[in-house]
Amino acid sequence: MEGPWMRRAIERKRDGEELEPALWHDIVEGYLVGEVDDAQMGAFAMACVWRGLDENEVTALTRAMVESGATLLYPPGMFVVDKHSSGGVSDIVSLVAVPLVAACGVHVAKLSGRALGHTGGTIDKLEAIPGFNATPSMDAFVRQVERVGCAIAAQSDSFVPADKRLYHLRDHTATVPSIGLIAASIVSKKVAAGANAFVFDVKCGTAAFMRDVEQAKALARMLVGVSERFGRRAYAIVSDMNEPLGRSIGTGIETIEAREVLSGREGDERVRAGCVQIAAAMLELAGVAAPRERALRALENGSAYEKFVDMVQAQGAGRAALEALAPDPRVRPLRAPGGGIVTSIDAVRLGNVARALTAHSSVGGIRLHVRVGDRVEPGVPLADVLGEGADPEAILPAFAIGEELPLPRPLVYATI
Ligand code: URA
Repeated sequence: MEGPWMRRAIERKRDGEELEPALWHDIVEGYLVGEVDDAQMGAFAMACVWRGLDENEVTALTRAMVESGATLLYPPGMFVVDKHSSGGVSDIVSLVAVPLVAACGVHVAKLSGRALGHTGGTIDKLEAIPGFNATPSMDAFVRQVERVGCAIAAQSDSFVPADKRLYHLRDHTATVPSIGLIAASIVSKKVAAGANAFVFDVKCGTAAFMRDVEQAKALARMLVGVSERFGRRAYAIVSDMNEPLGRSIGTGIETIEAREVLSGREGDERVRAGCVQIAAAMLELAGVAAPRERALRALENGSAYEKFVDMVQAQGAGRAALEALAPDPRVRPLRAPGGGIVTSIDAVRLGNVARALTAHSSVGGIRLHVRVGDRVEPGVPLADVLGEGADPEAILPAFAIGEELPLPRPLVYATI
């Protein structure tokens, strides 16, 4: 294209106009080939944050992003499901739900990201298992889904490169929390990964990109609507992210928590319920009858755990490496300065500290002993800090202790 066309596109979006599909395509392509620079793209992304994108625009942006790289294909007749979370703290749902659904006979192909901001990344958690290969070739990935029933891998340069570049830019320019940009980023990865049906776990709360339920529902509707335009079945769950989902915050220690939930051993009730809910939705989309009961049975009879072992082995790590994974033994307890009721837990602060700890040790992090609503006596441990790289006192402000019992928060606010 000739002339200052990108400046004109920025002006039009700044002034609230709807842009036509061909222009979205040119913007994405222009950015990838260097015709549009980072300053222009940053300004454009900010205009999108302020003015919003309608479903036609999000569909056009998603299509342009999918077309920026390769698309995976599975054998005809094979029904494949996928899931994606909009990002949270101690969110081990992918680690549990992917093998759990595969253990119930449904193929799962999942492309995941690394840590972003205070939120954890599924790939970092899996890479804490020595030998795990998160970047198999696309061919090996597809064959593994066929043979084992599931695979989880990282994005690569040839796979939705437009999302990789744009996401990085959005992270730098504070332009992540836009319903349209998030929906295009997520759905483009799902469509390119080739599954037939998607479940979206839209996190909502103080530690999520969507702070309130109405915003989260709007994102959920957009994710489902755009997926359907690509001929996919889709379902979204709006779930709570006002406190960490599980008890472990880190990388390897979250894999250890997932191992516990998968092996049917006690595990935290809230995280187990969250995993079963998502797995059941994935099974339902694949047409499985009594999906919740099937998922619970696979947890109880050990088949979900064995599927996790199969997946880890297929990606280069042995059962022994998975089972030898142990929390960092350098444990420093953080004790309650006074008694009362835990009225809130700041998951953003904990997520940021845990990232500093995992930079030193892949099995470092924070292990919680309390939940919002628990009554504590002075001096009892609120959490353990595992490993080095952060002062336990730095996380003390994350725990608010008061007198009033907070209103109970549901795990799920809405389904779309
Ligand atoms: N997860 C994604 O993959 N993209 C976003 O923009 C936000 C969360």
